[in-house]
Amino acid sequence: MIPISKPYLTTDEAQSAYDTILTGWVTQGPRVEEFENKFCEYTGAKYAAAISNCTTALHLAMIIAGIGKDDEVICPSMSYIATANCIKYVGAKPVFAEINPDNYNIDIKHVKKLITDKTKAVIIVHQIGMPADIDEFKKLCDEHNLKLIEDAACAAGSSYKGKKIGSHSDIVCFSFHPRKVITTGEGGMITTSNPDFIKRIKLLRQHGMSVNDRVRHESGKLLFEDHLELGYNYRMTDIQAAIGIRQLEKLDWIINERRKIALRYIQELKDIECIKLPVEKEGYFSNYQSFSIYLKKDCPVGRDELMQKLLDAGISTRRGVTTSHRETAYKSEYKNLHLPVSEDAADNSIMIPLYIPMSDEDIDLVISKLKEFLITIK
Ligand SMILES: *Cc1c(COP(=O)(O)O)cnc(C)c1O
Repeated sequence: MIPISKPYLTTDEAQSAYDTILTGWVTQGPRVEEFENKFCEYTGAKYAAAISNCTTALHLAMIIAGIGKDDEVICPSMSYIATANCIKYVGAKPVFAEINPDNYNIDIKHVKKLITDKTKAVIIVHQIGMPADIDEFKKLCDEHNLKLIEDAACAAGSSYKGKKIGSHSDIVCFSFHPRKVITTGEGGMITTSNPDFIKRIKLLRQHGMSVNDRVRHESGKLLFEDHLELGYNYRMTDIQAAIGIRQLEKLDWIINERRKIALRYIQELKDIECIKLPVEKEGYFSNYQSFSIYLKKDCPVGRDELMQKLLDAGISTRRGVTTSHRETAYKSEYKNLHLPVSEDAADNSIMIPLYIPMSDEDIDLVISKLKEFLITIK
């Protein structure tokens, strides 16, 4: 069976976790700080804070952006549901915008129409690793005095206009879930260039505690902590950070290997007329966290039928990114909402296997089966 995805982990990561356990520092400590510093170096961001995962990072993003009850935040519906959930965590309302069908990223023309007096922020998602047009959204948010938040869960190592994601705007949230290009098991990171934001994020992730464990541990003087505001336990552990440091060292290589497979898929599948493949425009560089194919109406098989046929041939696939407004947790509140472009993209796209190392035979099998099921002999 060819899986849809597989984390790239080796004895390096295992050794690093092992060594860290034996130091006795297993919660947030020196390895977390090292991981943050290295993430800054890698992305070109000014500051970084490691967080327990991207969902909790997005929750903190909402708080530091000042989002609260009855505010509106515009985001794409077609995204992992955590994008919308974080808005609800602070009592605000997700306002769902359409996507561009060519890159699955939020459609700025639709966003402009959705801005009201209650709008406080826009969340853009670099969907499955393809950067959104950050500059256009920065301009729009500046004009309307809105906060811009980048959900970069899938986009570690992707770049936009020659700079790595994480270095462009003031609140960028990453994930290190095993389904992303590098992993710490569970894990997340926020990057920012705003010194007040980083201070508050670091406070909020440790119960609002004024002194962290490490500072207290290393202090020669008696130190008592105070809890300055309502905080959370959203810390990453040193064990996770130790794994993350090794993963980050390999990130560019991992992306290079992933792109070789993605470019092969594009090369081999580009002549199948009934499908649409990802397009990387000038200035956009994707880490190909996933490889999604859109099936046009004239395909000889429907989406679910294609997925079943591939499964029967030993190839796992997944549906494309789903829409949040049609999920059970949201659908009663959004029953009158129709987003035809997002719904069509969600209902007619599939993700095909892409991981490293993926053998040439496996890549060839995916290609040949897609050709077999999708090309009609006229
Ligand atoms: C994976 C993902 C998340 C959630 O990340 P976790 O680290 O699993 O919490 C949020 N947004 C998007 C777009 C994602 O793909």
